[in-house]
Amino acid sequence: MRVGVFYHPDFAERGYITLRHRIKPAYEALRRQDYANKLLFFEPSVSPLHQELLQEIHTDRHIEAVKAEGYHEVALLSAAGVVSAAEMLAAQQLDRAFCFVGAGGHHAGRNYSWGFCYYNDVAMAVLRLNQLGVKRILILDMDPHSGDGTRDLVALDPNIVHINFYADENYSYQDNKLNNYGILLENATDKDFLQALEDNLPKAENVEFVIVIFGHDSHCEDYGDFYLTIDGYREFTHRMKTFCGTRPLLYVLSGGSNPQIAALAIPAVIESLL
Ligand SMILES: [Zn+2]
Repeated sequence: MRVGVFYHPDFAERGYITLRHRIKPAYEALRRQDYANKLLFFEPSVSPLHQELLQEIHTDRHIEAVKAEGYHEVALLSAAGVVSAAEMLAAQQLDRAFCFVGAGGHHAGRNYSWGFCYYNDVAMAVLRLNQLGVKRILILDMDPHSGDGTRDLVALDPNIVHINFYADENYSYQDNKLNNYGILLENATDKDFLQALEDNLPKAENVEFVIVIFGHDSHCEDYGDFYLTIDGYREFTHRMKTFCGTRPLLYVLSGGSNPQIAALAIPAVIESLL
């Protein structure tokens, strides 16, 4: 298996304040693992193509607002890594990939963002995949906060299946669109979550490409309202691999701030991808 890891030191240095302290401990823990020499490491860079994708997905007004906040460069660099990983998977240069990021993406809609998110990295990658002829895509979001920005951007595309597990009961999820499924799981344990996964994956049998939005704020010792464990992440990833078979599988990092958990969770997920 060719597993790519996309990482840039700027994610740790210049990433969103709440998210950046976990990046370096997780990356360094990963590099120390015996299996690290089996991984292919890539350092993303921003190209004119990424600028074009950004302008297709977000309004000029939103981009200006992100620039004013000081997170434009690191958010675009994060998205560039996700787009590059998607391209390499589509070209069968990789089988699976994991992208570190310096800012979140799933709360970023066309003209807004909130909750540590600025640019919708996954929506940019989906647009790029569409340009490359890859249309039927599953976006499975297991960050316990609802992926409202992603939903708003992909909801009208009949080829996208968006399965969104979330914990916030106050969030009114309108899943009356095409293939958008909001799955409310309150205080979910590994067992609850894995059962919900089994129940919902059949909705996406026909996809040709799978993107997982992975937030370790779903861990019982991180800030979200799921109560998952490292073993749960391993089992989840094994099930995603089984579901995908030979189809490309792309993990994109999302929420999570606990450096100790990140240093366990991220290497565990990447090892499971091998
Ligand atoms: Zn989250």
